[in-house]
Amino acid sequence: MAGLHVRSLLVTGANRGIGLGLVQHFLRMPKPPQWIFAGCRDPKGQRAQELQNLASKHPNIIIIPLEVANPASIKAAAAQVGEHLGGSGLNILINNAGIVKLNALDAETLEDMSEVYTTNTIGPLLMGQAFLPLLKKAAQGSPGSGLSCSRAAIINLSSQGGSISSLLTWEIAQAPSYRCSKAALNMLSKCQSLAYKEHGILCVALHPGWVQTDMGRSLGLPPPVTLDDSVSPAHVSHGASHIPFRFLLLPSSSTSSSP
Ligand code: NDP
Repeated sequence: MAGLHVRSLLVTGANRGIGLGLVQHFLRMPKPPQWIFAGCRDPKGQRAQELQNLASKHPNIIIIPLEVANPASIKAAAAQVGEHLGGSGLNILINNAGIVKLNALDAETLEDMSEVYTTNTIGPLLMGQAFLPLLKKAAQGSPGSGLSCSRAAIINLSSQGGSISSLLTWEIAQAPSYRCSKAALNMLSKCQSLAYKEHGILCVALHPGWVQTDMGRSLGLPPPVTLDDSVSPAHVSHGASHIPFRFLLLPSSSTSSSP
């Protein structure tokens, strides 16, 4: 993490699980970001208590009401973040919020397919669109010219569960809605990386590991990866080094132009 200099970032679903772990991770950096925008769909609710406590001790955490399945909420969040930032841009957008429905293939439903796709895939799409002006501004204002998290980046929390070639935990949970949503998120990440490269924005999809969170535990077996291990710095190549994850799924188009 030595080379990572982030002035501002936004994490969706930051009130628990990996999202909260990421906020804590960035706070522990030798030079923490000036602004950590913590997206949370129910900031006053019981599940946001830990985040509220953290924010009361760290003035650089700004809690932003954000429901990623609601375009109006996304627009309002982008406006609020823009106001906080004044004239400067947003360095990193982390699309972390996600849901899982553990249906078997034969029991999968239109409702669950739609809800999971809306949250896990359409949410990151709309977030990318709404925050693009702020990400562009960060890239333009950065002294560097390559793609990096210190400049401007979209990080999509995907899952190996959505991998077609090395799909994870099929024997434990079929969960087609979740798998399809993450496979589609991988393609969205590829599209973003191709479209936003010209603006200087790095776009990647990451698998965080099978992590000890509410979602990770919902499979009924103990997940092998601790939260701290998941959000620790990764030693990855592909121009995405210094991203705080061990598992890189999809390189940005900066290093791969194959479709
Ligand atoms: P958790 O279930 O522990 O936390 C999910 C977070 O997303 C919560 O903060 C939740 O908010 C938020 N969220 C869910 N839906 C919405 C929404 N519509 N709008 C705003 N926020 C929402 O999950 P994890 O922390 O484990 O997972 C984080 C990401 O990592 C997900 O994208 C997941 O798919 C991915 N991942 C996780 C793995 C694991 O093993 N844990 C493995 C592979 C990928 P609220 O408290 O309000 O519900």
